[in-house]
Amino acid sequence: MTTFTINNLVRENILQLQPYISYRDQKSPENAVLLDANESPFGTCNRYPDSTQSKLKNKLAEYKNIAQQCIAVGNGSDELIDLIIKIFCEPKKDAILVMNPSFAMYGFYAAINENEVIRLNLDRNFEIRKEDFIAATEKTVSKVFFICSPNNPTGNSVDDLEFFIRNYNGIVVVDEAYIEFSERKSALRLLGKYPNLIVLQTFSKAWGMAGARVGVAYASEEIITLINTVKAPYNVNSISQELIITMLEDESLFNKNLRSILDEKEWLKRELMNLECIDTVYPTDANFFLIRFNNAETIYRALLTENIFTSKRAPQIPQCIRINVGSREENQKLINVLKNVKS
Ligand SMILES: *Cc1c(COP(=O)(O)O)cnc(C)c1O
Repeated sequence: MTTFTINNLVRENILQLQPYISYRDQKSPENAVLLDANESPFGTCNRYPDSTQSKLKNKLAEYKNIAQQCIAVGNGSDELIDLIIKIFCEPKKDAILVMNPSFAMYGFYAAINENEVIRLNLDRNFEIRKEDFIAATEKTVSKVFFICSPNNPTGNSVDDLEFFIRNYNGIVVVDEAYIEFSERKSALRLLGKYPNLIVLQTFSKAWGMAGARVGVAYASEEIITLINTVKAPYNVNSISQELIITMLEDESLFNKNLRSILDEKEWLKRELMNLECIDTVYPTDANFFLIRFNNAETIYRALLTENIFTSKRAPQIPQCIRINVGSREENQKLINVLKNVKS
């Protein structure tokens, strides 16, 4: 990675792009008269949100001990996935590399941007085979490698993450949507070492804020500047920005909820282990279980009949359903149905 220069990877038109600048967000004194954005002077939500999200980034910078210039905030990490693909991948020309199975949105945004998706089939423990990775990088060219760790829908973390970051000739995105549930260290600690690394985190899962739509990218200042250049100026609304700041100011609610989800995960696992309809409960570092049933189709339909929604992964992962940890009441309902189902 000694010869790494980001500009060789960025699309030409993106390099030429001038960011949209809201001058009031650069500097506006407390009592400024704001007649620049055609807003209404009335109402509680009448102003456009801070396009630089500086207060929120300030809090995040302090919380994560990372410079503000290395943080970009998105309308969920989904938006950041979309922007990353747009920044680096030329439509109809470039490709992305993904794990298979993994999070579907990488392929979804690649398809919208008309980029090919090269898939690395995981081994039976859902790990990336290093030889397959090396073969894929020698045989094909891709610009961005999405590594999901812990991986959705398999639940496991990727072993030897650094090997892949070090040996990939492009941008590596480590999607850490479930990192708070895991005992593994975040890849954030590797940011200083690898200029090709982007770490994605989100407030949608452990933080319980999926409805607020806030995701965060951590990367080099150069990459963050690119993301800030292409993002919609007002991509994160002001109510969400305020909500997240409030959450970050008092961690106690987050800690309490995380603890209770982790406890409930243990309870649910013990209950699942006793069920006859289940073949395998895969190890997981996330807030969900990938479960192989003896007859997934029957189980999935029996649950639906009781209005219990789960995520069927068959046929891609044969006989498997992904089920996340809910409240005790929800988990108990799930177990009751699974106990009585005839399969
Ligand atoms: C849920 C999830 C996300 C979160 O997306 P948001 O847009 O932040 O809600 C990102 N990546 C993975 C792998 C996920 O499972």
